[in-house]
Amino acid sequence: MNEPVLTIVVPCYNEEEVLHDTISQLTNLLRELEKEKLVSVKSKILFVDDGSKDATWQLIYKESLKEERVRGLKLSRNVGHQNALLAGVFTARNASDCVVTIDADLQDDLTVIREFVLKFREGFDIVYGVRQKRDSDSFFKRATAQGFYSFMKMLGVDLVYNHADFRLMSKRSLAELEKFEEVNLFLRGIVPLIGYNSTSVYYDRKERMAGETKYPLKKMLAFSLEGITSFSVTPIRLVMLCGFLSFFISLFLGAYFFALKAFGHTETGWTSLIASIWLIGGLQLIAIGLVGEYVGKIYKESKRRPKYIVDIDMFNLPFPRHLINT
Ligand code: UDP
Ligand code: MG
Repeated sequence: MNEPVLTIVVPCYNEEEVLHDTISQLTNLLRELEKEKLVSVKSKILFVDDGSKDATWQLIYKESLKEERVRGLKLSRNVGHQNALLAGVFTARNASDCVVTIDADLQDDLTVIREFVLKFREGFDIVYGVRQKRDSDSFFKRATAQGFYSFMKMLGVDLVYNHADFRLMSKRSLAELEKFEEVNLFLRGIVPLIGYNSTSVYYDRKERMAGETKYPLKKMLAFSLEGITSFSVTPIRLVMLCGFLSFFISLFLGAYFFALKAFGHTETGWTSLIASIWLIGGLQLIAIGLVGEYVGKIYKESKRRPKYIVDIDMFNLPFPRHLINT
C-alpha cells in the first residue's frame, strides 16, 4: 500500500492564544508520521479560520508561508464549529485519502492520530476518538452530556457515546457525507448513518491549553436542542414554554383548591372549571409549539442557504506561496 495522504482539519475561532502551540505540535506529529512512512509526504494540516476577530488568520497565513505542511482556509464570517469543520473536510477531500478533524485547543490527545491512521490502514473508513475520562469537564457539563446521550438514545438516535468531533474519515465516507444535504448537519448523528466500517480509539481528554471555551452553557444547550430536533425557531419555542408554564400553574392551582376544599372551604364548580381551563390551554400550547418546531425546521431547510462561504482558499496553492500573487 502506498502511504495515504492525510489532512488534519482544525477549525479555529479566536484561537490566537493557543494556535502557536497547536501549529508546532501538529507539524511535529505529521513529520514523525511521515518519517515512519505511515502517511504520505503530501499530507497537510488545514486550519479553518471561522471568521475570527483576533489575529488567528494572520497567524495561520504567516505560518503557511514558512511551513509547507500548513495550509489555511478563511471563511467569510463566523458559521460555527460544525460548519467550519465541513468547510475544511470538503476542501481537503479531493486531495486526501483520509481526513482527521480536531479542535484547535489541544484538549484531545494528538498521539491518538497515529492510532487513527493505523486503523485506517487496517481498512476502517471511520475512526471515532472516544473520551475515556471527562475529569477535565465540570460536574455540570458531564451531567448535562449524560442527560443528552440518554435522551438521544430514548429517541432512537445512534450516537457514539462520549465522542465529540475528533475522528478520522476516509475519502469515500466524506463523499457520502457530502450527500447529506440538510442545512443543519448534526455531524455526530449523521456520521454513524453512513454505515461504513467503523471503530473507536479511546483517550483521555485534557483541559483547554489556553483561551476560553467557545461553548458556554447557552450555546451548549442550543447545540443539543439542534441535535434533538435538528432545528428550532425561537418564537414558536416561546409559545411552547408558555404552554408548559400554564400547564404547571394549573396543576398547582388544582392542588391548591383541592386542599382548600379538604379544609371545608367550598365554592361549587369554580375549582374544577378554572383548573381544567388552564390545563387544556397549557396542553394545547405545548402541542402547537412542538408542531411549530418541525414546521420551523422545514422553513429553514427549504431556503437551502449555503452552510459556509469561503473567502480565501490556500489549500491547493503550490509552495512557496509568497511568490504567488494572490
Ligand atoms: N470553533 C469554531 N467556530 C465557532 C466556535 C468554535 O470553529 O463558532 C472551534 C474552536 O476554535 C475550537 C473548536 O471549535 O477549535 C471547539 O470549540 P471549544 O474548544 O471552545 O469547545 P469545547 O471544547 O469547550 O466544547
Ligand atoms: Mg475545547
